[in-house]
Amino acid sequence: MSEESLRLFFALPCPPEQATAICAWRDGQALDGRPVAEANLHMTLAFLGAQPKERLEALLTMASGIEGTAFDLRLDRLTTIGKGFICLQPSTTPQALPKLVATLAEHLAALGVVLDSRPFLPHLTLSRQARSRPQKPSPDFNWYADRFVLYRSRNAEDGVHYDELGSWPLSAP
Ligand code: ATP
Ligand code: MG
Repeated sequence: MSEESLRLFFALPCPPEQATAICAWRDGQALDGRPVAEANLHMTLAFLGAQPKERLEALLTMASGIEGTAFDLRLDRLTTIGKGFICLQPSTTPQALPKLVATLAEHLAALGVVLDSRPFLPHLTLSRQARSRPQKPSPDFNWYADRFVLYRSRNAEDGVHYDELGSWPLSAP
């Protein structure tokens, strides 16, 4: 990646306690593919891709103006999506989640950031490049999503790192 650009995305971070529980469960399932690092568990809300560094201030200011509502996120389906992404997904999507995604998309568009046109698919990736589908019984994890963050995705020798550049609260409903 060039020095002048940052690979950015907005996401719901998985709280550390739930990330530990989810990874312990996942590792007991012997899922196929390359496991996602515990510190990296998240649900992407908007993937911005490479953005000029000069745009960061405007993105932080934009995010601080978003008034989102907190919600319970229950992840109770183990699925395979795309090309071998083994994921946790909610069987019921709380209304506040697509609303937050839509609000972010609108504000990003106003800043000239064009997002992928594919519809939002709520998921938390557990493993990538899996060739076989998981057969195991359904999980049941949940957390209270009361903040969203802007991450910088950075590739290092030991794998991808997500640096938290900003965090904003979602207010109690
Ligand atoms: P790596 O690509 O190095 O294996 P990664 O996929 O974790 O690591 P990124 O590619 O920076 O890191 O992606 C960060 C987040 O954004 C992940 O949740 C990823 O699934 C999502 N993402 C990446 N590319 C896109 C895209 N084109 N559209 C939507 N979401 C994307
Ligand atoms: Mg990627």
